[in-house]
Amino acid sequence: MTDIQPITFEGMDITKPIVIAGPCSAETEEQVLQTARSLSGNGIKIFRAGIWKPRTKPGGFEGVGETGLPWLTRVKQETGMAVATEVATRAHVEAALAAGIDLLWIGARTSANPFAMQEIADTLKEHDADVAVLVKNPVNPDLELWIGALQRIYGAGIRRLGAIHRGFSAYGKHLYRNLPQWRLPIELRRRYPALPIICDPSHIGGKRELVAPISQQALDMGFDGLIIESHCDPDCALSDKSQQITPEVLNYILNTLVIRDDSQSTENLSILRQQIDRLDNELIEILGKRMEVSRDIGQFKKEHRMQILQTSRYDDILSTRVKLAQQMGMSGEFMRTVYSAIHEESVRQQIEVFNDRTH
Ligand code: PEP
Ligand code: MN
Repeated sequence: MTDIQPITFEGMDITKPIVIAGPCSAETEEQVLQTARSLSGNGIKIFRAGIWKPRTKPGGFEGVGETGLPWLTRVKQETGMAVATEVATRAHVEAALAAGIDLLWIGARTSANPFAMQEIADTLKEHDADVAVLVKNPVNPDLELWIGALQRIYGAGIRRLGAIHRGFSAYGKHLYRNLPQWRLPIELRRRYPALPIICDPSHIGGKRELVAPISQQALDMGFDGLIIESHCDPDCALSDKSQQITPEVLNYILNTLVIRDDSQSTENLSILRQQIDRLDNELIEILGKRMEVSRDIGQFKKEHRMQILQTSRYDDILSTRVKLAQQMGMSGEFMRTVYSAIHEESVRQQIEVFNDRTH
């Protein structure tokens, strides 16, 4: 994925952060238009609405289907916004392309399924589609599966490509509806720096009051945009009502978010980073020296037929180091993790010495 293009639409000036907003589901033409008019009035440029809804259990609201596509076309004509919907099958892609939908997103249940992803990719390719596509992370925290899904879409010739981070399913009760596990999108960014990543605070939080803090966290981490569920009457929404906010509340949140300036002079930062680099070098050098001593201890134990693991010594090390770290303002939990890793490596080094038959 070497030639990724920014998410833009003809004749539209999209500034960062990209904001996509609209209801979880298109329910009626009125609800769609009313929501879209308010959002557009507040400067939102990209409108989302689910037409086909993947529900966990049968009997839930499964979306209005193709009936809703002309409603989105109307939004486009009336407000000039670009319009987005979720697709999961060949039929969805064909209907959405025929209706002139500008942006397709692939839902979390679909991106976890390589057969479905390939079917979508093949359909896009056959139609030589020129749409923007956003791929949500799969429900399970599997970065390779997410990347694979993105690669299939890229392979279909789609260049306006991006990822949506919507959190990951977890069993049991949690603060979040879907755990953010930020290290996954961060690793995705490291591997594909040009790929836009949009955060979906609505599906991560699952609650209205979490939309603002999760959005701020995403912007602080350098995400390229937000996709937020907004409904003209959230309490009466047919799906995801506890996480949808009115266009007015959305506007308020967007106005209070602090947008970090990545064009800021980074001179002072780079001095601090050089300090970090130097300290890290020292840290690694010291660890290397510590391991050398460990190997000497291993040699001694081998010559005196002693066993490698001596738990009381390890307990001792752990408790003194943890105390010291706490006195220096670090968490005990952190130091325990660090020392268990150091200890593991020491033991590995000593096993190497034990197995070395040349001494
Ligand atoms: C949605 O965006 O409404 C949706 C169904 O999301 P997800 O695939 O993230 O659950
Ligand atoms: Mn939803």
